[in-house]
Amino acid sequence: MGRTKVVGIAGRFGARYGASVRKKWKEVMERRYAKYTCPYCGTVTRMKRISVGIWQCPKCGTTWAGAAYTPWSIEH
Ligand SMILES: [Zn+2]
Repeated sequence: MGRTKVVGIAGRFGARYGASVRKKWKEVMERRYAKYTCPYCGTVTRMKRISVGIWQCPKCGTTWAGAAYTPWSIEH
């Protein structure tokens, strides 16, 4: 994979793209590990991600389908 690195004008765009993606990724990761309120038992805790888009409340064990990296598609 590393040997297929593209240089030149494509590489220049790639660097710019990578920077914005890293910033976005940081936001995603911070939200992923933020605390959320369980809509079923009201506990404010870090939700457990079972798999991509599937989340579970560690207190009441309720599972639900959410966004890929956050329990809900919320924008604060
Ligand atoms: Zn709960």
